[in-house]
Amino acid sequence: MESCLFCKIAAKQIPARIVHETDRILAFEDIAPKAPHHILIIPKEHFASFNELPAEKGALLAEVLMTARAVARERGIAESGYRIVLNTAPDSGQEVFHIHFHLLGGRRMSWPPG
Ligand code: AMP
Ligand code: ZN
Repeated sequence: MESCLFCKIAAKQIPARIVHETDRILAFEDIAPKAPHHILIIPKEHFASFNELPAEKGALLAEVLMTARAVARERGIAESGYRIVLNTAPDSGQEVFHIHFHLLGGRRMSWPPG
């Protein structure tokens, strides 16, 4: 999608600190990290949010999620703990309307989220 920030990052039209890439998935550092480790994991294919993801894309979603776990292991935070967040629609705080998981770790987090 032409006007989408994360589509532009996936197309390398906007720079990002890339952590992991396949032909379907990209993981990159969040530009304004909320934890010592804060990585965004996206499918390169554009879906505005989880609400727009067709059910038949479940395997792609699982791949994105497994990538988040693999990055957590690579960063050495799998055992200390991490949080994976999928903000969906305005009440969640979603600001970028290209589906993405946040991987957050490296510090103790509180619950419930704000
Ligand atoms: P959300 O609120 O779930 O939509 O999260 C969007 C995230 O994208 C925020 O954590 C932002 O800091 C992050 N972000 C915005 N612009 C960029 C960018 N150019 N590169 C990396 N992360 C970004
Ligand atoms: Zn997009």
